[in-house]
Amino acid sequence: MKDIDGEPVSALADGDISHLRNENSRLINRVAQLERMLSLQPQTGLPTHFRLELELEETIDEFRRTGDRGGFSLLIVQLGDNYASVRKTLKSSISEWILYETGCRIQSLLEPGDKIFHTHENEFVLILPRRKGKALEEFLRRLIAQLDEPHIFSGFNIAIKAATGASYWPEHGEERSAILHRADIAAGAAVEERKSFVLFKPELLRRAVEKVELQNSIVKALESAGIENLGDQFTLYYQPKVFLSSVGEGFIGVERIEAEALIRWMHPQKGFLGPDTFIPLAEETGLILPLGKWLIYQCARRLAAWDAEGRTSMGISLNLSVNLSARQFRSQDAADIIASALASTGLAGNRLTVELTETSLFEDPEATKLTLERFSALGVKISVDDFGTGYSSLSHLHRFPLDEIKIDRLFIENLDSNHQDKIIVSSLVSIAKGLGLTLVAEGVEKPEAIKILWDMGCRGFQGFLISKPLPAEGFMAFCDKVKADGMRIRIE
Ligand code: C2E
Ligand code: CA
Ligand code: CA
Repeated sequence: MKDIDGEPVSALADGDISHLRNENSRLINRVAQLERMLSLQPQTGLPTHFRLELELEETIDEFRRTGDRGGFSLLIVQLGDNYASVRKTLKSSISEWILYETGCRIQSLLEPGDKIFHTHENEFVLILPRRKGKALEEFLRRLIAQLDEPHIFSGFNIAIKAATGASYWPEHGEERSAILHRADIAAGAAVEERKSFVLFKPELLRRAVEKVELQNSIVKALESAGIENLGDQFTLYYQPKVFLSSVGEGFIGVERIEAEALIRWMHPQKGFLGPDTFIPLAEETGLILPLGKWLIYQCARRLAAWDAEGRTSMGISLNLSVNLSARQFRSQDAADIIASALASTGLAGNRLTVELTETSLFEDPEATKLTLERFSALGVKISVDDFGTGYSSLSHLHRFPLDEIKIDRLFIENLDSNHQDKIIVSSLVSIAKGLGLTLVAEGVEKPEAIKILWDMGCRGFQGFLISKPLPAEGFMAFCDKVKADGMRIRIE
């Protein structure tokens, strides 16, 4: 027989009672030690989620017993993405110090009766009796000010953003699990909306339920239709991307037209849905992979069909841009899918452009380079989407075989009034020229923007001023009209 530490227990054979007693008390101590380990976070010394479950139950029981309906607020404080990057990129002693200090800062604001728990690495939970409405607002003001203070170390000055969600007992749920769930939903909304604080409201629950429903219906659409029949529910719109030969008073001269394919979902119950409502979900669940594959094939088939009808030649054959999501791009087989879509339709690679965001390019530069080289080998063009919204610098771009840069519409929308945007865009134009890249301005809505950009040397334009995204037939009609008008578009 062995004791708890695996040591042979020889004395037991002799029936030594005092040894048994010793063993027993050693066992009790070890259990207490293990309980402490489980109930206290090593980095902060604060109680863990094990304690939270128990103490939340106790707090609710206490309020029920005393009939005190003043209740309490339950707060979930989550450290933002920049905490995760500190953890990944800097020494672990720094992230541990940040956690410890965050715990201390929150504790310094607590009053007798308040409780704090360190429930996950980047998450703290607070129970604040009778602190609601104005009193909670006052607490939050001080909490946010404390958490926003940068953490200073030798050589580092690190600011960590936190998002807080709260629910009230008993207003938002009588049971422990209900108010934890409500506070969690509120914290999720704070993270999503990039707010420091969100208080639970029933609408958030509806939104969370809708999100799950939408997720389920993407699965259903994909499962029931199968990849070949996605066209029953999903369709592509085409937004003209025009390259100009001149800019005149009230008109622009068009050298060539390309288009960006943008997905739309004809949802059987919810009607017409734009990509912002479901692409992030499809990305989260991985369903973007079959959907993205269908999209690439769809673009290739559409081009081949237009070619067969003799509708795509306007001096130069039409090129379609397709958006590749980060996950699709990382999935390794993106190049294979494009290659087989081209092979099955007999299209040349240069008829397709893939649009990738800066963030997906720079996530893993080595792997990116290999995948981009495969695209280039197929003749497919590569475009950087939403340029300027990520953190990459233009100086890194020359490492990749790129063809085009699309300046995000954020920089374009106030070009006529914002001097700083003008400086940024004008330097982008000259660097893009230096690197031999085609430049496209996105989200062009005002004629003044076209004039300013044209004078800077930008030749590619996309935006509502030229045309909204159109169904396939509408896009063909757009091209026919530009041709009929002598390769000109009126802009006013
Ligand atoms: P994006 O790639 O930046 O696409 C351009 C978006 O800007 C489109 O929205 C388009 O309708 C909109 N837009 C174009 N011109 C203007 C303008 O002048 N003013 C304003 N305010 N907006 C303009 P849409 O179609 O809702 O697409 C939103 C995003 O969804 C796209 O942004 C893209 O990131 C994603 N997306 C769309 N289709 C696909 C797809 O097939 N696959 C993937 N992975 N993502 C897609
Ligand atoms: Ca795009
Ligand atoms: Ca874009």
